[in-house]
Amino acid sequence: MAEQRPAPLFVGDDLALDFLNSFAAPRGRETEWLANGADLVAWLEQAHAVPADVAARFRADAASGALDAMAAQARELRERFRAFVGNHAGEPLSSTALRDLAPFNQLLGRDESYRQIAAAPRRDTEVTGGDRDGEDGHGALHWQYRRRWRTPETLLLPIAEAIGDLVCRKDFTLVRQCEGPTCTLWFHDVSKGHVRRWCSMAVCGNRAKAAAHRARQRPPSSA
Ligand SMILES: [Zn+2]
Repeated sequence: MAEQRPAPLFVGDDLALDFLNSFAAPRGRETEWLANGADLVAWLEQAHAVPADVAARFRADAASGALDAMAAQARELRERFRAFVGNHAGEPLSSTALRDLAPFNQLLGRDESYRQIAAAPRRDTEVTGGDRDGEDGHGALHWQYRRRWRTPETLLLPIAEAIGDLVCRKDFTLVRQCEGPTCTLWFHDVSKGHVRRWCSMAVCGNRAKAAAHRARQRPPSSA
């Protein structure tokens, strides 16, 4: 029977945290979005971590066994990173955190990124196709960051890079877990004043509001 799986959640405001959220229990049902290789490629494409043409090539060319092995490796890395985030979220990172990041450095050491001088996209054209290759420049020409996607293992590089970005460039004190009592979702709180509490208002925010409302309605004797 076909399993009804909701669309993956991208509520983390950060690719590394969205990666953690690729296993979650929205509305109380545990869901794995990286169950196999096809899942991994689809998730990376939806996360705009891998360009659509690269995703299509892996889908067509790579032996499914090789992709499945990458999905298994991705899940293992994810759970290591979940432990790391659980230990360090909400506090400034110190250099002792580095030893827990060794597996990600190992992966990053095999990266084949490079830069090209490219024409900047015209301002009136929409840039599509995702990819964190990104752009860097302000005139007609700009740096374009590219990657040689030679092996299935390269699919894990954008994730390792996002984890590196999060720990090197972003404020770890703003890494938070949703306050929903059973919610496991993580996010980077980039809200004004850093007052974000929920994965999303539609899911946990409204539920908490409804619970608070019911508590107010309850007669005092039943308290
Ligand atoms: Zn939540």
